[in-house]
Amino acid sequence: MSKPTIAIVGRPNVGKSTLFNRIVGGRLAIVEDKPGVTRDRLYGNGTWLTHEFHVIDTGGIELGDEPLLQQMRAQAEIAVDESDVILFIVDGKTGLTDADEAVAQLLRRSSKPVVLGVNKLDHYKQRNQMYEFYSLGLGDPYAISCAHGQGIGDLLDAAVTKFPAAEQASDDDGAIRFALIGRPNVGKSSLVNTILGKQRVIVSDLAGTTRDAIDTPFTRDGQGYVIIDTAGIRRRGRVYEKTEKYSVLRAQRSIEEADVVLVLINGEEGIIEQDKKIAGYAHDAGRAIIIVVNKWDAVKKDGKTMHQFEKKIREQFQFIDYAPIVFLSALTGSRVDQILPVIQQVAENHSLRIQTSLLNDCIMDTVAMTPPPSDKGRRLKIYYVTEVAVRPPTFVLFVNDPELLHFSYLRHIENRFRETFGFIGTPIKLLSRKKN
Ligand code: GDP
Ligand code: GDP
Repeated sequence: MSKPTIAIVGRPNVGKSTLFNRIVGGRLAIVEDKPGVTRDRLYGNGTWLTHEFHVIDTGGIELGDEPLLQQMRAQAEIAVDESDVILFIVDGKTGLTDADEAVAQLLRRSSKPVVLGVNKLDHYKQRNQMYEFYSLGLGDPYAISCAHGQGIGDLLDAAVTKFPAAEQASDDDGAIRFALIGRPNVGKSSLVNTILGKQRVIVSDLAGTTRDAIDTPFTRDGQGYVIIDTAGIRRRGRVYEKTEKYSVLRAQRSIEEADVVLVLINGEEGIIEQDKKIAGYAHDAGRAIIIVVNKWDAVKKDGKTMHQFEKKIREQFQFIDYAPIVFLSALTGSRVDQILPVIQQVAENHSLRIQTSLLNDCIMDTVAMTPPPSDKGRRLKIYYVTEVAVRPPTFVLFVNDPELLHFSYLRHIENRFRETFGFIGTPIKLLSRKKN
C-alpha cells in the first residue's frame, strides 16, 4: 500500500509541471505555454515499468512573497521530507544559475538520492549543454526534453533504481488504518496525542522501518489500528507547514494510505471551502469518512447548538451524507472515547460483503415499489446485481441498457441499499453492465 514517492524540484520555469504531467500522464493537454497554468495539481500517481509511485511537484507550493531563494529552500526541504527520490530539474537552455547551485547544496547535504535532469535539450546537438551541470556534484546529468517527451524514460529508470528496497507492508494484518486530515491548527496533532495518551491504547514497538517511523500502530481492546503519518502531523516549525497547498498535499497523501479518514473541522470557526475540498478527495478515493468537529469545548452552546451545527454540515457536505459526525474536544478529551468505536464501525462497513441473494431481494423490492421511469418508450430492466469489491463496497447491476439507468434512479438504489444494509460511513459504488 505504501508506494515510494518521487519529488520534483527546480527553479520556476525549468519545466517541472510539464514533467509532472508527463509522468502522471493523461493530462498533457493542460500544459500551456504560460508558466503556472498547471499549478493546481501537485500530487499524483505514476507508473514506470513495474513500479508504481507517488509524484509531487514541489513547485506548486509557494510561500507568498518570499524571495526566490527562500522558496527554493522550502521546496527542497519538502522534497527531502516527503520523498524517497528527488528529481532535480534544471534548464539546459538557460544554463547553470546561482539558485541551481544553492538547491544542489541543500540536496547534497540530505541523504536522499537525487537524479539530475537537464531539461529543454530538445535537439540532439544541444546535449553538450548538459556537461556544465556535472559541477553540481549530483552525479551524471540526464538530458531531457519534457516538451517532446525525450529522455524521460532514462530519467525514470535512474529514479526507480534508487527506490528503497520493498518494505514488508503488513496491509492485511486486520489493523484499521486511519488518517486525520484538516487545515493547519484544527487540532490534528492534539487529537493524535489524546487518542494515544488517554485511550488505554498499547502503542506498538517501532520496528524501525521507514513506514513505521511515519505511522503509529497501536492496539485497543484487541483491535489493531494504525494512525497514518503521525510524524507529518507532529512535524513543527517548517516555514511551508502552514501553507494551504502543503496541507492539501499532506491530506492527499494520508488519504492514499488510509482506510478511514477523519475530516477535522474547527468547531470554533466553522466550515471553510478547504474542508470541503479535502473531504471531496477522501470521497473520490473511496475511503470511509468520519466528520470530526473539534474544539467543541470552546463553543458557546445551548440546547440547539449541536443540532444547528450538524444541519450546517449536512448542507455543506451533501456529497458525504453517509459520514457520521462526532463532536469532541481533543483538548479536554471530551467524547474522544467515542472515536475508536466509530472508526471500527465505519471500517467494518467499508469492507462489508452482502450476500448476492439479499442484494437481489432488495433490488426486486425496489423495482416493484418504484419502477424505473421509462425513457423514450423504453424501460430499464435490472436482471441481477452482485457485489464485486469492497473498500468501498462496489456493486455491478446487470441491465438491459446502461443508458437507461439514470443518475436519479441510481441514487434511489443507493439509498435503498443504505436503508437495508446500513453502510454508515462508507461511500458505495454502483456500476452497470449490459447483460448480453
Ligand atoms: P515549472 O515552472 O518548472 O513547472 O515549468 P513549466 O512546466 O510550467 O514550464 C515552463 C515553460 O517551459 C513552459 O513554457 C513550457 O512549455 C516550457 N518547457 C517545458 N519543458 C520544455 C522543454 O523540454 N523544451 C522547451 N523548449 N520548453 C519546455
Ligand atoms: P494541527 O495543526 O491540526 O495539528 O493542530 P494542533 O493540534 O497543533 O492544535 C492547534 C491549536 O489548537 C493548539 O493551540 C491546540 O492547543 C488547540 N486545540 C486543539 N484541540 C483543541 C480543542 O479541542 N479545544 C481547544 N479549545 N483548543 C484546541
